[in-house]
Amino acid sequence: MYSINPADRVQALPPYVFARLDELKARAREQGLDLIDLGMGNPDGATPQPVVEAAINALQDSTNHGYPPFEGSASFRKAITDWYLRRYGVELDPDGEALPLLGSKEGLTHLALAYINPGDLVLAPNPAYPAHFRGPLIAGGKVHSILLKPENDWIIDLGDIPDNVAEQAKVFFFNYPSNPTGATAPREFFEDIVAFAKKYEILLVHDLCYAELAFDGYQPTSLLEIPGGKDIGVEFHTMSKTYNMAGWRIGFVVGNSHVIQGLRTLKTNLDYGVFTALQSAAKTALELPDEYLSQVQERYRQRRDFLIQGLGKLGWNVRKTLATMYLWVPCPPGIGSTDFALSVLQKTGVVVTPGNAFGSGGEGYVRMSLIAECERLGEALRRFEQAGICYK
Ligand SMILES: *Cc1c(COP(=O)(O)O)cnc(C)c1O
Repeated sequence: MYSINPADRVQALPPYVFARLDELKARAREQGLDLIDLGMGNPDGATPQPVVEAAINALQDSTNHGYPPFEGSASFRKAITDWYLRRYGVELDPDGEALPLLGSKEGLTHLALAYINPGDLVLAPNPAYPAHFRGPLIAGGKVHSILLKPENDWIIDLGDIPDNVAEQAKVFFFNYPSNPTGATAPREFFEDIVAFAKKYEILLVHDLCYAELAFDGYQPTSLLEIPGGKDIGVEFHTMSKTYNMAGWRIGFVVGNSHVIQGLRTLKTNLDYGVFTALQSAAKTALELPDEYLSQVQERYRQRRDFLIQGLGKLGWNVRKTLATMYLWVPCPPGIGSTDFALSVLQKTGVVVTPGNAFGSGGEGYVRMSLIAECERLGEALRRFEQAGICYK
């Protein structure tokens, strides 16, 4: 027997539910089921053609073939800060307040490693995107999870955080529009959390991955729009979702230059940053006309409306989300998240994610991703109906 074990920090990690889901999916496929996978947050669309072309052109240029500069290419950083000004009216310095990442998951986790000492207290909502609490766990931090409640529209209630916890806390991860709940937070919430972080001297880490996937005229708030936000915070973005570039592995962080410098110092020891040709392609993506965003938004909006309506016929009353590519759907009374997701998979071949994959606070819910055309969503709904899967 091989007796050398992984480090405690690896062994202590709870199993990554998506990895487990992958095994179950593989087994279902072996049984010949035609899977409809609404489990992952993996967009089904193609990367926009101008972006693919920019990548091809950049690949042909051998000056892009060496190690990229650690801080990222100047032209991509400039594209990031121009985009921020255009989208959020926030002015940023491309030379210290923007850093390309190998995807935002990489950056979020490494930020935790760069800022959290063993034993440090970290605040994160529950449910949350796994990197928001697993990053701190890998760093040896203690996570104080803030239970989110449906009656509060899944918005963090800062009043739920005891004073002595707030006093000890060092970093606070949060994410609106939210994965997995689809919740959006009003500007006042951002003002409150900035005041809270200033009062207790806490680093705010906001994940704004879904800001461009917003509907019905809703415009999500950037932490950096809030006066004082940049003094105590950073904000993460990904090219994966809005631009259908999940496989390319590129995202970025903006905000407080000291914090970004800390992350950069760590990353200098771990990686060489993003392939320059990819940064060139991502620059092209950020410079696409707003019409591209409208098209993507319209596609997800149609799917949202279609699935909410179909679930409605099966007894579910799912509220319209104003952003993200997810619906957060309650399990029928009397069945838990895991059992419900498994039963849906076995009876219908439709993959949904059990809410407890995002923490105990997600128990009682499943997340459905809007990553299939309405025709396939319709097929999923038909299978639900045939299998007697409904909310009652
Ligand atoms: C998908 C997702 C990410 C991951 O983005 P990558 O840039 O692909 O690593 C980060 N945060 C949230 C909330 C996400 O849903």
